Amino acid sequence: MEKSFLSNLKKYADLIIKVGLNLQPGQKLIVQHMRNDGVPIQSAPLIRLVADSAYQAGARLVDVQWRDDEITLGRFKYAPRDSFNEFPAWQAQGILDVVEDGGAMLTVSSIDPDLMEGQDPELVDQRQQAFLEHWKPISAHIGKNSMNWNLFSVPIEGWARKIFPDLPVEEQMPALWDAIFKICRVYEDDPIAAWESHLAEMKKHADHLNEKSYRKLHYTAPGTDLWLTLPEGHVWRSAGFKSQTGISFTANIPTEEVFTLPDKRYTEGTVKSARPLLYSGSVIDNFNLTFKEGKVVAFSAEQGEGTLEKLLSTDEGACMLGEVALVPNSSPISQSGLLFYNTLLDENASCHLALGSAYRFSLDGGEKLSLEEFGALGGNSSLIHSDFMIGSGDLNVDGVLENGEVEPVLRAGEWAF
Ligand code: ZN
Ligand code: ZN
Repeated sequence: MEKSFLSNLKKYADLIIKVGLNLQPGQKLIVQHMRNDGVPIQSAPLIRLVADSAYQAGARLVDVQWRDDEITLGRFKYAPRDSFNEFPAWQAQGILDVVEDGGAMLTVSSIDPDLMEGQDPELVDQRQQAFLEHWKPISAHIGKNSMNWNLFSVPIEGWARKIFPDLPVEEQMPALWDAIFKICRVYEDDPIAAWESHLAEMKKHADHLNEKSYRKLHYTAPGTDLWLTLPEGHVWRSAGFKSQTGISFTANIPTEEVFTLPDKRYTEGTVKSARPLLYSGSVIDNFNLTFKEGKVVAFSAEQGEGTLEKLLSTDEGACMLGEVALVPNSSPISQSGLLFYNTLLDENASCHLALGSAYRFSLDGGEKLSLEEFGALGGNSSLIHSDFMIGSGDLNVDGVLENGEVEPVLRAGEWAF
């Protein structure tokens, strides 16, 4: 490995452990990607450094749930057609063991967007449903920030090929590493200090929105005319979180978003997607959603309409919104001009909404509410939480104050205050 690349890998690993998790001495750490069968074995060079950094921070035990995409493909080729509801339940239990013992969770987002190309969508969907069922108790911990957790990404070959199809094969992986180092501020002299000032900047915007406490947001852009209602007690947050065990952490690296929940019952109007949405291994692109009384009542997509229909009919909450997030169009990810086919990166490029469950911590005191109480206040719940991008240089957002006054929030994709 080239020396400067290795030193950047180390900086990235330290960033994830120190800023992402803020891992504390004595904590255990589970590294996983249960949604996609595990952490890709190709990512081992970075994950080894992450484990080193964790032990240097005082971790008692670091455990990694590995996967191999070739084995996943073998399953689709040879496994009995009626077996795709099988799930390795030990993975979920392994995560719960660590989390319920005060440990931390790292999720490695690293997917070949074309891996499921050509596979029977029915089987892909069954596999996804089996995952969702087992993910439920872990998702509940995430929604309450029971533990310090972080989501970050690692390049793998199929993914790099998807983003840079025109580059020679040997340049695709270096190009993706370079992009990720850039948007994660790894090239800064002191990435940790750079992140601290970036996080402070985002908190300022969240604080401003919390002071205003807008009742409604109005989105306008070509193809978009959408009204959202924000519930009483909504809290705008940036990714600087605090776990219930009192540990400050940063849930996503990178992160550029300031977000809260909309009231699930009152969304009205039409919104047009700005970037493709990758769901369960398939791409949904150029789509529109029309809402009435909170629910999607009409939709269309140029690509992946069938997948979108499946997503929307997952359960009752899947056709209502659970998150509204503001990201200035000048974010480093947006400026990279790249489409990553990866929600962690693409959602941070752009203003987005999420179909499905709302984070409890988006509502003041939400962690302590029962699901029914949370729902009665407008908080959505669903097996899914699927972010889709709607932001661009053409987007304007207005905020409506309690007294009915209207103020600009975003103009041409940038903060207006
Ligand atoms: Zn978001
Ligand atoms: Zn989200």
